[in-house]
Formats: sequence, C-alpha cells, structure tokens
Amino acid sequence: MYDLIIREGRVIDPLNHIDEVVDVAVENGRIAEVAPSITNASKSELNAKGKIVMPGIIDMHTHMRTLFGHPHAQRMIALAGVTTTLDMAGPLEDILDSIPGSGAGVNIAILQAAQEGETISTSRPSEAEQKSFIEQVLDHGAIGVKLLGGHYPMDLDISASFIEKASMLNAWIGWHVGNTQHGSNIEGLKDALGAANGHFLHVAHVNSYCRGQVRNELDEALEAVKLLKSNPQVFSESYLSALNGTRLTIENDHPVSKVTETCLKKVGCTPDFEGMKKAILTGRVGVLCDDGRIGKLINGEEGFNYWLSHKTVTSGSFAVNPAISRFILAQAKRDNGSFVVDSFSTDGGTYPRNVIVENGLCLVQFGAITLNEFVVKASLNGARALGLPTKGHLGIGADADISILDYERKKAYATIVNGEVIMQDGALFGKGTTIICDERGDKYLKGRGIRTYIKKPLDLKVIESRFVP
Ligand SMILES: [Zn+2]
Repeated sequence: MYDLIIREGRVIDPLNHIDEVVDVAVENGRIAEVAPSITNASKSELNAKGKIVMPGIIDMHTHMRTLFGHPHAQRMIALAGVTTTLDMAGPLEDILDSIPGSGAGVNIAILQAAQEGETISTSRPSEAEQKSFIEQVLDHGAIGVKLLGGHYPMDLDISASFIEKASMLNAWIGWHVGNTQHGSNIEGLKDALGAANGHFLHVAHVNSYCRGQVRNELDEALEAVKLLKSNPQVFSESYLSALNGTRLTIENDHPVSKVTETCLKKVGCTPDFEGMKKAILTGRVGVLCDDGRIGKLINGEEGFNYWLSHKTVTSGSFAVNPAISRFILAQAKRDNGSFVVDSFSTDGGTYPRNVIVENGLCLVQFGAITLNEFVVKASLNGARALGLPTKGHLGIGADADISILDYERKKAYATIVNGEVIMQDGALFGKGTTIICDERGDKYLKGRGIRTYIKKPLDLKVIESRFVP
C-alpha cells in the first residue's frame, strides 16, 4: 500500500522528460510510481487536478537565521513551495539551535559567513586561520563558507586566498562580491571572477551587481552574462524580486552596512539616521517585523516606531533591483542552450520575498521561459550543483520532495518533503529540519539529534556540464 497518491496533476520533470497529466505515488518518503490512473490502495490522496506537480523547489539563496528579525524563515519558505534551500550566511549555530522551535519540515544546507570579529579574527586572517575556519565549519555541519564582500569587504588577495583554500578542502564557497577596491557592483564581479582563478565559486545574486551603479543597468546585465559565460566553473543564482535585504542598523550616525549606505543614496536619502528615518517614513524601505507567524515588511509611522523601539537594530528591504537586469539574467542562455545563471533564488527566507513561484511563473506566462525551463532553474540545477542526486527530479526512488503549484494564481498550493505534506493551501504541518551536510559534518549533527542528508562532494565536472533543457 502506498503512503500517498497525488492525483491528476500536470507532472513536469525535465530530467526524466515528463510533461503529462499522471498520478504520482509515494512510499517510504520516495517516489514509487508515476503513471496514469494508479489503482493501488493508498493511505492518503491529494487531488492535484489542474495544478502543476514538480520536483521540490530548491531556493539557492536564502537566510534562515533567527537573528535581526524573527524565527519564522522555515515556515515562510514552506508556504512559498520551497522544499530545500541553501542558507547563505548562517550563523550555523543559530540555525541549528532554532530547529526544535522553528522547524517546518524543510531541508537546509548552510554556508557560514567569514565575518571579522564574529567568525574570523580580522579582515586579513592568516592562511592557517582561513584553512582552520573552513575545516571547522565543515565539521560542524555547514557545507562551506560565504564571503560577505558587499557588506564587509576584504582585500581582494584575501578573498582569492579563501577561494583557493575552499577548493583545496573541497568546500562550497559563496561570495556576495565586493572587495576593498571595488564595491558590490559589476567591477566587483569582474574582480571576483578573476580572483576565482579557475576554482569553483558561487556568485551570489548576480542581479544585485546590475543596478546601474557603474554603467547603465542594461549594459551591466549584458556584461555579467558575458563574464559568467567565460567562467563556466562558477555557479550563480539571481533573484526575481525588486526587493533586496539588508541591515537597517545605524551606529555613530552611519549605517553599519555598506550595502545600506548605497541603497539610501539610491533612493535619494542621506546615509545617516535622518536619511533612514525619511526612507522608512516615506515607504522607500520596509522594516522587517515579526507578526507572530511570519515576518513582514512595514513602513510609515508603524515602521519607524518599530525601528526606533529596536534601537535601529533591525533589517529590512529597499526596492532597488531594476526589472531589466532581473529579466535578462533570468532567461539568458549559453551557446549550448543551458542557462547562464544556473538557478532562481530569492535571498528571502527570513525576508518576505520568497517569490520563485509568483515571479517565475510570470516569466512563463510572459513567454520568456517555458514551464520546463522554470523547473530546471527552480529545482533541477540546484540539486545537481549541490550534489543531491535524489532531488531535483521525480524518477522512481527519488526523494518525494514535491512542489504543487496553482499556475493561474501563481502560488504554491502544496509543499511535500520526504513524502510528508508540510504545507497545503496555506496551512503548515511540517516539523523539524533536515540539514544537508558534507560527510565531515554528519557525526556532529547526528550527535545533536539532527536529521541529516549527506551531499555528494562538490564536482566541477557537474557544474561545468550544465543541463540543457
Ligand atoms: Zn543573502
């Protein structure tokens, strides 16, 4: 007897070349059968008539921490149809500690940020410190590290050295590009690809370097496409929301983050307390607040009072991502037909902009990408890159991680992880969290009673031999 049969959905599975209305049966957390009108008995059934059934959405850039905001990120991604995500900064221990209270049944892989005074001693750590930092985070359940060049830039030689060490240790390394010479922009991207020097690198949210800071937005997006094409060992994602996410904390009358400073200037406000006050009161930035179930953005008087009552120690979002660069990066292809930017992402999670389904299906309805291509960028490519062979497709024996979408309303209808329905029609049912780890971190996580999924080692051949939809 099957555990679950999903009835009559339009199943889209690019890896197995399926695009038809069929039933999907699940047993012991795995896909057991995909066929028209399955007649076996089942403990439960889910009617997906008129809906899209796809391999679980993998958001390759979110933040699942509970600091500077609220503890509801897991719920928010489950509501958005996401089954698996890559957290792009940690803090690792904060996320692991939050599992009992915040677990919503999703899978999370974590990168620990290299941040001066927090996880590394200085912005110019020795080679020995870089190496031991990476080894230590792998041993504690992260899959690698993140460089925060946009917010806390380091010298280019140190960033390059981190990439080399990560490559040596076969760890994932993500970079919000930017260094002490060039900021979080197209010049910073050029520097980052040079610093990678042929090694693996995950370039975070490519769209954010194409906001017209150096040249115009269109030229920057076209240049980013060209740069990524000539660095095939680089994995990249780009997001679809106009909103960014950054810290709104002001110290000594100055934003603590460089990104925040740039955003304030971009929306016509001064980079100081008065400028931020004006930005919040006039709705140029939303302050992230906890409404008890999820996180949401507020502005005006309400937002200002929330910000002030938290002594400015909050985060929030500015609408600074131009549509033209988001659009170009979403659909640009390489000569062989594979995507230039590998995955859709949101930089959401804790930030309320988990819009892969909403905005991704807009692109499909507009005709910029096909539904099949949407699934490649929203699920398959992330699974391939991360080394998750049982995810990203619905072949027999694959993990029953499934997203069911309402195509017309452009909303996630149900989220299923390991055969468990963790969200249906806005109601949440998931508990706990599975941490996707490197084999080096499995023992530590198991020791803490945390469920694990051991990813395959990073493989440059897989990164470079991109899936052609
Ligand atoms: Zn981020």
